[in-house]
Amino acid sequence: MIRVLRMLESMGIPFSLNEPLKNHCTWRIGGPADLFVQPRTDEEVAATVSAFRRNDVPWLVIGRGSNLLFDDDGFRGAILKIGRSLGGFEIREDRVTVRAGTWAPCLARASASAGLSGLEHAVGIPGNVGGLIAMNGGSLRRSIGDSVEWVRFLDEDGALKVFSPDECGFSYRRSRFQDGRRVVVAAGFRLKRSTPGEVRSEMENVLKERRRKFPLNYPNCGSVFSNDTEIFPLWGAPGRVIECCGLKGLRMGDAMVSEKHANFIINLGEAGSSDVIGLVRTIRSVVRDSIGRDIPCEVRYVEPEKGMVPLHEIFRSGDNPRLEQKEQEKGS
Ligand SMILES: Cc1cc2nc3c(=O)[nH]c(=O)nc-3n(C[C@H](O)[C@H](O)[C@H](O)COP(=O)(O)OP(=O)(O)OC[C@H]3O[C@@H](n4cnc5c(N)ncnc54)[C@H](O)[C@@H]3O)c2cc1C
Repeated sequence: MIRVLRMLESMGIPFSLNEPLKNHCTWRIGGPADLFVQPRTDEEVAATVSAFRRNDVPWLVIGRGSNLLFDDDGFRGAILKIGRSLGGFEIREDRVTVRAGTWAPCLARASASAGLSGLEHAVGIPGNVGGLIAMNGGSLRRSIGDSVEWVRFLDEDGALKVFSPDECGFSYRRSRFQDGRRVVVAAGFRLKRSTPGEVRSEMENVLKERRRKFPLNYPNCGSVFSNDTEIFPLWGAPGRVIECCGLKGLRMGDAMVSEKHANFIINLGEAGSSDVIGLVRTIRSVVRDSIGRDIPCEVRYVEPEKGMVPLHEIFRSGDNPRLEQKEQEKGS
C-alpha cells in the first residue's frame, strides 16, 4: 500500500485514507475504505489501476454508488471512484460518445436537446454512465445495452480495450463489467432521430411516473430485488410479490420496506448494513415460504475483505462465517 500512496502523491492524484463510504452511496450506509482514489484523467485511472495490480492491493471501481450496499466495516483495500471529472460527451448526428463519469440523467437530457431518442428510460436513473453500462441499467423494459455501439475499458491487466455490444455480454441487468475489476472509461451510443419536443415530453412522463411511485425522500438504492424470468410471469414484479406478502413497512433498525414501493428499502436515518441485510434475509424467507422461490437481488454488496457480489449471494449457508457471527452478536 505504501508504494501506491507514494505513486499517488508523486502524480498528484487525489486520494484519502479511511474515507467513510456512506458519503459515496445513495443509501448513506458504509464504514471506511482503507484508500479512496478519485482520478481526474484517463491517464490517472490507468496509472492507479496499474499501481494496484503491481502491489497486490485489493480494489474495486464505483460510480455514484446508487446500486451498492457498503458494509458498516467498510472495505479493506482501495476504492477507485469514476466521478464527475471523468465525465463529458460529444454528439455528432445520431451518435454520442460519452465518458464514464457522466451523470446518466445529464446525458439523457442532452440527447433530448439534440432531438435524439433512445435514452428516455434513463432520465431518472441516478448513476454514472460507467455504472449504468456495468449494470446494463434501464427502465420501462429497456436497458442501456440496447443503444450501445462500443465500450472502451481498462482490462484487469491495465490494457485499454474496446468491446462490441456482443462482447459486453449484456443481459437483463448484467454485463461483463460487473466484477468491479474492468474499468469502463467511455462508450459510444447510436440513437434514433426524433424531435427535442417529443423526446422531452416522453422524459417528463417517465419522471412524473417515477416521482409518483418511488420513495425519493429517503436515502435508498432503487430496486433491491430484480425481476426473475421464472417468478415474473407467475407472480409479477418483486415489489408486487413483497407487497402481497404483507411486508410493506417492515422495519429493522432504521431500515424499512417502503410503504410507497415494496421493492425499495429506505434508510430512515441511521440504518447500518446489518439492518438492510437482516431485512433482505427476512423478505427472502417470507417470499420463499409463500411462493416457493428465492427472489434475486439487483443491489450489489461490497464485502469488507472480499469484493462485490449480488447481495443474495451472501446468504448461501456456510458461505459466510463473518456474516453469521455478526448476526449472532446482534441477536445476543
Ligand atoms: C432512486 C433510484 C432509482 C433507480 N432506478 C433505477 C432504474 O430505474 N433502473 C436501473 O437499472 N437502476 C436503477 N437504480 C440503480 C442504479 O442507479 C443503477 O444501477 C446505476 O446504473 C448505477 O450507477 P452508479 O454509477 O451509481 O454505479 P455504482 O452503484 O457505483 O456501481 C454499480 C456497479 O457498476 C460498477 N461500475 C461503476 N462504475 C464503473 C465503471 N466506470 N467501470 C466498470 N464498472 C463500474 C461497479 O463496480 C458496480 O458493480 C436506481 C437507484 C436509485 C437510488
